[in-house]
Amino acid sequence: MTEMTMTTRPLPRQPEPDSEPFWAATTRHELRYQQCRRCGRAVFFTRAVCPGCGSGDLELKLSQGAGTIYSLTVVRRDGQPFFRERTPYIYALVDLDEGFRIASEIVTRDVDRVAISDRVQLTWEDHDEVGIPLFESAAERES
Ligand SMILES: [Zn+2]
Repeated sequence: MTEMTMTTRPLPRQPEPDSEPFWAATTRHELRYQQCRRCGRAVFFTRAVCPGCGSGDLELKLSQGAGTIYSLTVVRRDGQPFFRERTPYIYALVDLDEGFRIASEIVTRDVDRVAISDRVQLTWEDHDEVGIPLFESAAERES
């Protein structure tokens, strides 16, 4: 669990019709994505139709929260007050093992030890109406 800071993270404005099932699940610490029943594609974020084949037959599935860092950047300056307090922090694209990609933050004690291709695991930051999915280095969790 991540420590809360003095200012508040910018949060999604509800209702968000297409992503409502995703955000509702975050309050239970469930990372949800969709899988197309027609073409099999993993779809994220949740939406009405498959971006691969256009089918509306999408099944809501539960991710196990394990993934690999596809790309990252270390943010050392930020004009937004909440993120300014977090600098330096890592903004990353994470490829989940189920086959979808999410933009998130890698929570770490040392931003300079996190690298592309590192294995990461889901963790949550709780707010009143949503949970924010963040990731931790799998190696750091075990140490
Ligand atoms: Zn499809």
